[in-house]
Amino acid sequence: MIIDGKKIGEEIQAELAQKIRGHTPVLGVILVGANPASQIYVQAKRKACAAVGIESKLLSLPNSIAEINLIEHIEQWNRDPSIHGILIQFPLPPHISETAIVRAIDPTKDVDGFHPINVGKLLLGQEDGFVPCTPLGIQCLLEKSHIPVMGKHVVIVGRSNLVGKPLAALLVQKKPHCNATVTLAHSQSENLADLTRSADILVAAIGSPQFITREMVRPGAVVIDVGINRSLGNQIVGDVDFEQVKEIASHITPVPRGVGPMTIAMLLRNTLKAYDPHCLL
Ligand code: NAP
Repeated sequence: MIIDGKKIGEEIQAELAQKIRGHTPVLGVILVGANPASQIYVQAKRKACAAVGIESKLLSLPNSIAEINLIEHIEQWNRDPSIHGILIQFPLPPHISETAIVRAIDPTKDVDGFHPINVGKLLLGQEDGFVPCTPLGIQCLLEKSHIPVMGKHVVIVGRSNLVGKPLAALLVQKKPHCNATVTLAHSQSENLADLTRSADILVAAIGSPQFITREMVRPGAVVIDVGINRSLGNQIVGDVDFEQVKEIASHITPVPRGVGPMTIAMLLRNTLKAYDPHCLL
């Protein structure tokens, strides 16, 4: 079965739009430079905000901006009570430290969930922090698709701070829709195919086109493809060989229309949480 992330994402957006009615959450978005891909991502995020009733403010800054000046802009928004969430579009120019920038964001406005305080809260299972949008979107996708996670062996290939590590931290929590047994694999893992074949739920977050082949998947497994890559023919493809693997997987996410729309839906959810967590109840 193909999991329709776009449809599920739209359903979540509709639910959020209802909860937002009568409220005015504001997301501040900072874009540095003119990277075309970043511009497209920012545009998509702002469009999604508008669709559910979140106001977004864009601050476009030149590529040449000094780190200290970028931090000053962030601190200004940290102090501004009319800005509820802050999103910095990555990547930043090489002369700016992403670590320093993430640390400058007020953790209570850090809707991407990258600040060390929020990373710590996720690890500790404290619910008042922000979970990064892609892992949260994957968990939500599994829940909405009625795929049980409790007690299952989840194998995640990729250990980035953006996807793999926070997803592992999320799915091992002693909580509903978690309680998984998680294996976190990476480029140094030995016998990778043996690991992936042992998965009930296989998550590919590698950044390598069609890396996961049919032989690496146990028949009946659930396959979640996080990857967004350009194929040789300039098409968008995932980290999974979709055509082969869909024949044996019980459920599989396509690329596009899989995890991507869920990431955006969770950004909206986190922004509403930053505005007022009671609105989510
Ligand atoms: P990343 O920071 O480059 O991390 C890639 C991970 O894959 C690393 O942990 C790396 O291992 C591992 N890896 C690379 N080659 C491998 C191999 N041959 N065998 C096993 N593991 C290998 O990437 P990322 O930011 O997590 O993103 C991964 C993919 O997801 C990208 O295509 C990205 O565009 C996409 N993405 C999609 C969304 C979405 O919303 N759909 C969101 C975020 C990212 P090492 O740590 O050992 O180097």
